[in-house]
This record gives sequence, C-alpha cells and structure tokens, in this order.
Amino acid sequence: MKELEERINKDGRVLGKDVLKVDSFLNHQIDPVLMEKMGEEFYNHFKDANVTKILTVESSGIAPAVMTGLQFQVPVVFARKHKSVTLKDDLYTSEVYSFTKKTSNHISISKKYLSSDDNVLIIDDFLANGQAVNGLNEIVDAAGANIAGIGIVIEKSFQKGRQLIDKEKIPVYSLARIKAFEDGHVVFGKEDE
Ligand code: 5GP
Repeated sequence: MKELEERINKDGRVLGKDVLKVDSFLNHQIDPVLMEKMGEEFYNHFKDANVTKILTVESSGIAPAVMTGLQFQVPVVFARKHKSVTLKDDLYTSEVYSFTKKTSNHISISKKYLSSDDNVLIIDDFLANGQAVNGLNEIVDAAGANIAGIGIVIEKSFQKGRQLIDKEKIPVYSLARIKAFEDGHVVFGKEDE
C-alpha cells in the first residue's frame, strides 16, 4: 500500500537493528483516515473469503481491526493481555512472547465471542517473529473455528514470522513489507527480492 509506505518513510524511525517506531500514526497517536484506507485494503483483498469475525490483540491491533470490521460489517474481538474481574471464566488462552517488551503474556478471549461456526480474519499491526499471530491461531483452533486469513499492517520479512505462517499455508496479506533496515532507512520488498 503505497500511502502506508510513504507514511513510514516520512514518520517512521528505525530503532536499533530490528524495530520500527511508528507512534505518530499507528502505535500511540492514530491517523483514522489512514486506518480507514487500511480497512478498505484488507476488505478488498479478503472480501470473497466469507469472513464472519475479525480477531486481533490489544492494543495496537484494535484500530486497523475495527476499520476492517466496519468494511465487512462483522464483529471485532480483541484478545486481552491482562485478566480482569470482568474476564474470568470460560476463556480461550494462549501464551505469547512479546518481541518489543521481551516478556511473556497470556492472551485471552471469552468463549462467548468465538465459536466453531466462525471464519476468522486475524489482523495485527506488526509481524515480526510471529508469536502474536501464533497465539491468535491457537485460540482460533481451540474454538474449533476456521482461519480465513491474516492481515498485517507492517511485516518485517527479515524476521521469521512470515515463514512460520507460510508453512501453515494460511493466506497472509501485508500492507507494507520491509526487507531490511539499512543505515536507519527502511527498505521495502520481500526478503528474496
Ligand atoms: P511477533 O509476535 O510477530 O514477534 O511481534 C508482533 C508484535 O510485536 C506486534 O503485535 C507489535 O505489537 C510488536 N512489534 C513487533 N515488531 C515491532 C516493531 O518493529 N515496532 C513496533 N512498534 N512494534 C513491533
């Protein structure tokens, strides 16, 4: 998605050798106009996949997931990272190691919001080593639901997440693919290009 790549070039900042900071439009401040276009883009790609539900994980996946759900006119469920008094029983849970925080979290969703009739489109902000997506896949499996596909806003193809998903043969669509960071600059494309 050209507009997203341009925005990454303009506002993104490379931290160290493998982290991209995009706080000004995705991870802290949110650009709703760009988010809406992302929702349209995911919809156009997956519109024939009979999606019944969008699944993401809090918090940065929620904005692109809601915009996608709006296009499909289906509910959006986000996995929670913290247990709360209102989220206690009857949960699907999975353990996820966080790439940016370097800690493990349990992510959970209520069994009420996912059933074996669902055909789920997973949406997330970044794909790095694939831990978050893997945790969501496990939850969908536990519910006996089907995964229609995975939509990623920014994929870092030089990390191992994409290969993991490709191995599972799940359709994946990333709006921006980054093959390398070079001298603090982002190089777009697939790793083998
Ligand atoms: P994974 O589970 O694929 O290793 O990492 C995905 C999660 O880590 C994303 O949901 C995102 O929150 C975070 N993440 C991974 N890489 C980056 C990055 O380069 N920048 C930011 N802002 N978040 C990232």
